[in-house]
Amino acid sequence: MVVLKTSAEIDAMKEAGRLSAKALRIVGEAIRPGISTLELDALAEEVIRAEGGIPAFKGYGGFPGTICASVNEEVVHGIPSAKKILRAGDIISIDTGAIVEGWVGDNAHTFPVGKITPENKHLLAVTEQSMWAGIDAARPGNHLGDIGFAIQSIAERAGYSVVREYTGHGIGREMHEDPSVFNFGRKHTGLELCVGMVLAIEPMINRGKRKVRTMSDGWLVCTRDGKPSAHFEKTVAITADGPVVLTQE
Ligand code: MG
Repeated sequence: MVVLKTSAEIDAMKEAGRLSAKALRIVGEAIRPGISTLELDALAEEVIRAEGGIPAFKGYGGFPGTICASVNEEVVHGIPSAKKILRAGDIISIDTGAIVEGWVGDNAHTFPVGKITPENKHLLAVTEQSMWAGIDAARPGNHLGDIGFAIQSIAERAGYSVVREYTGHGIGREMHEDPSVFNFGRKHTGLELCVGMVLAIEPMINRGKRKVRTMSDGWLVCTRDGKPSAHFEKTVAITADGPVVLTQE
Protein backbone atom coordinates (compact mmCIF):
# COMPACT_ATOMS: atom_id res chain seq x y z
CA MET A 1 0.00 0.00 0.00
CA VAL A 2 1.37 3.39 -1.01
CA VAL A 3 0.95 5.97 1.76
CA LEU A 4 0.44 9.42 0.24
CA LYS A 5 1.66 12.45 2.18
CA THR A 6 -0.09 15.81 2.50
CA SER A 7 1.91 18.94 1.74
CA ALA A 8 2.15 19.61 5.51
CA GLU A 9 3.57 16.11 6.01
CA ILE A 10 6.06 16.66 3.19
CA ASP A 11 7.14 19.87 4.90
CA ALA A 12 7.62 17.92 8.13
CA MET A 13 9.72 15.35 6.27
CA LYS A 14 12.10 18.12 5.15
CA GLU A 15 13.56 18.26 8.66
CA ALA A 16 14.45 14.56 8.64
CA GLY A 17 15.79 15.07 5.14
CA ARG A 18 17.89 18.06 6.13
CA LEU A 19 19.47 16.21 9.04
CA SER A 20 20.13 13.13 6.89
CA ALA A 21 21.83 15.35 4.30
CA LYS A 22 23.88 17.11 6.97
CA ALA A 23 25.14 13.82 8.40
CA LEU A 24 26.06 12.61 4.92
CA ARG A 25 27.89 15.86 4.11
CA ILE A 26 29.87 15.87 7.34
CA VAL A 27 30.88 12.23 6.93
CA GLY A 28 31.91 13.05 3.36
CA GLU A 29 34.10 15.89 4.58
CA ALA A 30 35.83 13.53 7.05
CA ILE A 31 36.69 10.89 4.46
CA ARG A 32 40.46 10.52 4.01
CA PRO A 33 43.02 7.75 3.70
CA GLY A 34 43.64 6.17 7.12
CA ILE A 35 40.22 6.71 8.65
CA SER A 36 38.12 3.68 9.59
CA THR A 37 34.50 3.23 8.61
CA LEU A 38 33.66 2.88 12.32
CA GLU A 39 35.03 6.39 12.94
CA LEU A 40 32.80 7.69 10.15
CA ASP A 41 29.87 5.87 11.71
CA ALA A 42 30.46 7.52 15.11
CA LEU A 43 30.62 10.92 13.43
CA ALA A 44 27.28 10.39 11.67
CA GLU A 45 25.62 9.30 14.89
CA GLU A 46 27.00 12.34 16.73
CA VAL A 47 25.67 14.73 14.07
CA ILE A 48 22.21 13.15 14.05
CA ARG A 49 21.84 12.93 17.84
CA ALA A 50 23.20 16.46 18.40
CA GLU A 51 20.02 17.80 16.79
CA GLY A 52 17.69 15.38 18.52
CA GLY A 53 17.39 12.99 15.60
CA ILE A 54 17.52 9.20 15.74
CA PRO A 55 19.80 7.22 13.41
CA ALA A 56 17.30 5.49 11.12
CA PHE A 57 19.50 2.52 10.26
CA LYS A 58 20.73 1.62 13.75
CA GLY A 59 18.86 -1.46 14.88
CA TYR A 60 16.87 -1.65 11.62
CA GLY A 61 16.52 -5.39 11.04
CA GLY A 62 19.41 -5.70 13.49
CA PHE A 63 21.81 -3.51 11.48
CA PRO A 64 24.44 -2.23 13.95
CA GLY A 65 25.49 1.04 12.26
CA THR A 66 24.29 4.60 11.69
CA ILE A 67 25.80 4.41 8.21
CA CYS A 68 26.23 1.72 5.63
CA ALA A 69 29.82 2.01 4.38
CA SER A 70 30.51 0.08 1.18
CA VAL A 71 33.99 0.26 -0.39
CA ASN A 72 34.98 -0.47 -4.02
CA GLU A 73 33.35 -3.79 -5.08
CA GLU A 74 31.02 -3.57 -2.08
CA VAL A 75 27.62 -2.45 -3.37
CA VAL A 76 25.53 -1.71 -0.27
CA HIS A 77 25.01 -2.52 3.43
CA GLY A 78 28.64 -2.57 4.56
CA ILE A 79 28.79 -2.73 8.37
CA PRO A 80 31.11 -0.04 9.80
CA SER A 81 34.25 -1.54 11.30
CA ALA A 82 37.42 -0.38 13.07
CA LYS A 83 39.27 -2.84 10.84
CA LYS A 84 38.05 -1.27 7.62
CA ILE A 85 40.61 1.46 6.95
CA LEU A 86 40.21 3.64 3.85
CA ARG A 87 43.08 3.88 1.40
CA ALA A 88 43.81 6.43 -1.29
CA GLY A 89 42.16 5.34 -4.52
CA ASP A 90 39.14 3.72 -2.85
CA ILE A 91 35.59 4.75 -3.54
CA ILE A 92 33.14 4.53 -0.64
CA SER A 93 29.36 4.61 -0.65
CA ILE A 94 27.98 6.15 2.52
CA ASP A 95 24.26 5.59 3.09
CA THR A 96 22.64 7.18 6.12
CA GLY A 97 19.29 8.35 7.42
CA ALA A 98 17.74 10.19 10.32
CA ILE A 99 14.35 10.08 12.02
CA VAL A 100 12.93 13.42 13.17
CA GLU A 101 9.44 13.75 14.67
CA GLY A 102 8.72 10.23 13.43
CA TRP A 103 9.58 10.98 9.80
CA VAL A 104 12.47 9.29 8.04
CA GLY A 105 15.09 10.68 5.67
CA ASP A 106 17.41 8.46 3.62
CA ASN A 107 20.32 9.41 1.37
CA ALA A 108 23.60 8.10 -0.02
CA HIS A 109 26.63 9.35 -1.89
CA THR A 110 29.73 7.61 -3.21
CA PHE A 111 32.88 9.55 -2.36
CA PRO A 112 36.41 9.28 -3.69
CA VAL A 113 39.18 8.62 -1.13
CA GLY A 114 42.12 10.74 -2.17
CA LYS A 115 42.96 10.46 -5.85
CA ILE A 116 40.95 7.84 -7.74
CA THR A 117 41.29 6.41 -11.25
CA PRO A 118 39.60 8.17 -14.19
CA GLU A 119 37.53 4.98 -14.64
CA ASN A 120 36.12 5.22 -11.13
CA LYS A 121 35.62 8.96 -11.48
CA HIS A 122 33.51 8.25 -14.54
CA LEU A 123 31.52 5.56 -12.69
CA LEU A 124 30.70 8.05 -9.92
CA ALA A 125 29.71 10.77 -12.38
CA VAL A 126 27.46 8.48 -14.42
CA THR A 127 25.79 6.96 -11.37
CA GLU A 128 25.03 10.38 -9.92
CA GLN A 129 23.77 11.54 -13.30
CA SER A 130 21.49 8.49 -13.51
CA MET A 131 20.06 9.33 -10.08
CA TRP A 132 19.25 12.87 -11.21
CA ALA A 133 17.61 11.54 -14.37
CA GLY A 134 15.48 9.24 -12.20
CA ILE A 135 14.56 12.14 -9.94
CA ASP A 136 13.61 14.27 -12.94
CA ALA A 137 11.20 11.52 -14.05
CA ALA A 138 9.45 11.55 -10.65
CA ARG A 139 6.50 13.66 -11.78
CA PRO A 140 2.74 13.22 -11.52
CA GLY A 141 1.41 11.43 -14.59
CA ASN A 142 4.66 9.57 -15.20
CA HIS A 143 4.98 5.94 -14.16
CA LEU A 144 7.46 4.06 -11.97
CA GLY A 145 8.92 2.54 -15.14
CA ASP A 146 9.87 6.02 -16.34
CA ILE A 147 12.18 6.42 -13.34
CA GLY A 148 13.78 3.02 -13.93
CA PHE A 149 14.08 3.65 -17.66
CA ALA A 150 15.81 6.99 -17.13
CA ILE A 151 18.34 5.46 -14.73
CA GLN A 152 18.99 2.32 -16.79
CA SER A 153 19.43 4.23 -20.05
CA ILE A 154 22.18 6.42 -18.67
CA ALA A 155 24.00 3.58 -16.90
CA GLU A 156 23.90 1.16 -19.83
CA ARG A 157 24.80 3.79 -22.41
CA ALA A 158 28.04 4.24 -20.45
CA GLY A 159 28.65 0.47 -20.56
CA TYR A 160 27.72 -0.14 -16.94
CA SER A 161 25.12 -2.45 -15.43
CA VAL A 162 22.23 -1.90 -13.03
CA VAL A 163 21.94 -3.97 -9.86
CA ARG A 164 18.52 -5.65 -9.95
CA GLU A 165 18.23 -7.21 -6.50
CA TYR A 166 18.01 -3.93 -4.57
CA THR A 167 15.76 -0.98 -5.29
CA GLY A 168 14.64 2.41 -4.12
CA HIS A 169 11.47 2.60 -2.07
CA GLY A 170 8.64 4.64 -0.71
CA ILE A 171 9.51 6.40 2.54
CA GLY A 172 7.66 8.27 5.26
CA ARG A 173 6.93 7.14 8.80
CA GLU A 174 8.68 3.92 7.78
CA MET A 175 12.06 3.80 6.07
CA HIS A 176 10.88 1.22 3.56
CA GLU A 177 7.35 1.71 2.30
CA ASP A 178 5.68 0.75 -0.96
CA PRO A 179 6.36 1.00 -3.82
CA SER A 180 9.69 -0.58 -4.76
CA VAL A 181 11.45 1.84 -7.10
CA PHE A 182 13.30 -0.27 -9.64
CA ASN A 183 16.41 1.15 -11.26
CA PHE A 184 15.48 -0.41 -14.59
CA GLY A 185 12.27 -0.50 -16.53
CA ARG A 186 10.25 0.47 -19.54
CA LYS A 187 8.68 3.81 -20.26
CA HIS A 188 5.06 4.29 -19.24
CA THR A 189 4.81 1.01 -17.31
CA GLY A 190 4.14 0.29 -13.67
CA LEU A 191 2.35 2.33 -11.04
CA GLU A 192 1.30 5.82 -12.06
CA LEU A 193 3.06 8.50 -10.02
CA CYS A 194 0.94 11.06 -8.22
CA VAL A 195 1.21 14.07 -5.96
CA GLY A 196 2.00 13.07 -2.37
CA MET A 197 4.25 10.11 -3.11
CA VAL A 198 7.63 10.27 -1.41
CA LEU A 199 10.32 8.02 -2.86
CA ALA A 200 13.93 7.19 -2.08
CA ILE A 201 15.55 7.00 -5.52
CA GLU A 202 18.84 5.12 -5.32
CA PRO A 203 20.61 3.60 -8.30
CA MET A 204 23.34 1.04 -7.62
CA ILE A 205 25.51 0.84 -10.73
CA ASN A 206 28.34 -1.62 -11.45
CA ARG A 207 31.34 -1.06 -13.68
CA GLY A 208 31.26 -4.73 -14.61
CA LYS A 209 28.39 -7.23 -14.65
CA ARG A 210 25.21 -6.70 -12.69
CA LYS A 211 25.32 -9.85 -10.55
CA VAL A 212 25.83 -9.44 -6.81
CA ARG A 213 26.09 -11.72 -3.80
CA THR A 214 25.51 -11.34 -0.08
CA MET A 215 28.52 -12.05 2.09
CA SER A 216 28.68 -14.27 5.18
CA ASP A 217 27.77 -11.52 7.67
CA GLY A 218 24.30 -11.55 6.10
CA TRP A 219 24.45 -7.84 5.22
CA LEU A 220 27.29 -6.88 2.93
CA VAL A 221 26.48 -7.10 -0.78
CA CYS A 222 29.38 -7.27 -3.27
CA THR A 223 29.66 -7.50 -7.03
CA ARG A 224 30.29 -11.08 -8.14
CA ASP A 225 32.99 -10.06 -10.59
CA GLY A 226 34.83 -7.94 -8.00
CA LYS A 227 34.54 -4.76 -10.05
CA PRO A 228 33.63 -1.45 -8.39
CA SER A 229 30.08 -0.29 -7.76
CA ALA A 230 28.61 3.13 -6.98
CA HIS A 231 25.45 4.21 -5.21
CA PHE A 232 23.68 7.56 -4.90
CA GLU A 233 20.36 8.27 -3.21
CA LYS A 234 17.99 11.09 -2.39
CA THR A 235 14.58 11.23 -0.77
CA VAL A 236 12.20 12.93 -3.20
CA ALA A 237 8.61 14.17 -2.88
CA ILE A 238 6.38 14.21 -5.95
CA THR A 239 4.49 17.50 -6.06
CA ALA A 240 2.28 19.26 -8.60
CA ASP A 241 5.35 21.37 -9.45
CA GLY A 242 7.50 18.26 -10.00
CA PRO A 243 10.08 16.49 -7.85
CA VAL A 244 11.30 18.12 -4.64
CA VAL A 245 14.44 16.72 -3.00
CA LEU A 246 13.85 16.46 0.76
CA THR A 247 17.36 15.34 1.70
CA GLN A 248 19.00 18.70 1.33
CA GLU A 249 20.32 21.30 3.76
MG1 MG B 1 17.19 3.76 0.76
